[in-house]
Amino acid sequence: MVSFEEARSIILDNVQTVGTERIHLLEAIGRVLAEDATAPWDLPLWDNSAMDGYAVCAGDCLTIPCRLRVTGFLPAGAKADGITVESGCAVRIMTGAPVPAGCDAVVPVEETDNGQEEVTLLEPVKRGQHFRFRAEDVAAGVIFVRSGTTIRPPEVNMLAGFGMALVPVYRRPTVAILSTGDELVELGRTPGPGEIINSNTLSLAAAVREAGCIPRIIGIARDNRESHLEKLGEGLKADVLITSAGVSAGDCDLVRDILEELGAIQKFWKVGIKPGGPTAFAMYGSTPVFSLPGNPVSTMITFEEFVRPALLRMQGHRRVLRPLFKAVLREALKKKPGKVQIVRLRLEKEGGRWYAASAGNQQTAILRTMVDAQAIAVLPAASSGSAAGDEVEVHFYGNHIELE
Ligand code: AMP
Ligand code: MG
Repeated sequence: MVSFEEARSIILDNVQTVGTERIHLLEAIGRVLAEDATAPWDLPLWDNSAMDGYAVCAGDCLTIPCRLRVTGFLPAGAKADGITVESGCAVRIMTGAPVPAGCDAVVPVEETDNGQEEVTLLEPVKRGQHFRFRAEDVAAGVIFVRSGTTIRPPEVNMLAGFGMALVPVYRRPTVAILSTGDELVELGRTPGPGEIINSNTLSLAAAVREAGCIPRIIGIARDNRESHLEKLGEGLKADVLITSAGVSAGDCDLVRDILEELGAIQKFWKVGIKPGGPTAFAMYGSTPVFSLPGNPVSTMITFEEFVRPALLRMQGHRRVLRPLFKAVLREALKKKPGKVQIVRLRLEKEGGRWYAASAGNQQTAILRTMVDAQAIAVLPAASSGSAAGDEVEVHFYGNHIELE
């Protein structure tokens, strides 16, 4: 058995990115840039106006109010070539328009009488005011987004601003999902006596998608050698394989043996975590293989704590664990020392602090409290439980948390 922390570091030490691809910027949101992006030109490319107003020489405006002749007009998109601000004159200018030669300040229209032929400036003028200077944002040749950065709308904006329609990103791994068990029927059939719907495949596919990867549903391996050989073999063709069930020590638990027979090398089996103890991890060449317990609660928790960070790392993300924060317990949480315990929680914020209460029945067979959980507490192995009023470390559960 390995500890929770050992399991995580074994997994993260073994996984790597699966190549890169160039994709259109429109598709790049949430992806990770695979090369440094270098500015091909200055941003902005020329000195321009930060306000709608008048381009002036500050030296002409030493006494206020000051009257100037308006000799030109520069809307956004206009070229400033051939336009000069002569002494005693002003050029009407719009935000974003290039500033003409001869001027060293822009006076906002609000600080003038808004005159057309002549303008009166009502406020003192400082050199350089309301100018956006060439290259003040990014100078040509500077790396403006580093490789390994997750692309958000601001990165999209800047990449687009530099004309980069295609961007190099890490590829999304394909993730094979295989359920095992003779009791399973596929979604769409009504389960008969002794049968249950293969809900894990759907929930794993959803979680894989939420983590940014591409699920490949392999179906169900029945509790016999031939079926396992066929389906596991198929699953090993993907970049990652996740199986559910058949990984405990029961008579029908064939997953680990057959994976070994197919050439996968087991890195660990059994983790000091509750729920989710029977989890196994193996490598088949460079393909990580996660064998998760079949109980839907255990499957989802082990995905969350072990598989999700691996899938993020495989897509080039630097930060793969959800941030932990402290919450004050509304009630005691019982626990025996020895294993990390995962507790499903409801959260509230009050007076700037987070408060947590159990989401309800914490037994592995109770799915309802997974549905109700907003956060997860990872109680350390050594802990012998926490009292009401104690602080525990928690992380949100899910990417789209709405707290009432
Ligand atoms: P096992 O790990 O095979 O002992 O399964 C543990 C529990 O999880 C049993 O109650 C199974 O019926 C249930 N289970 C196994 N696979 C699935 C699945 N694909 N979808 C939903 N429940 C499952
Ligand atoms: Mg089974």
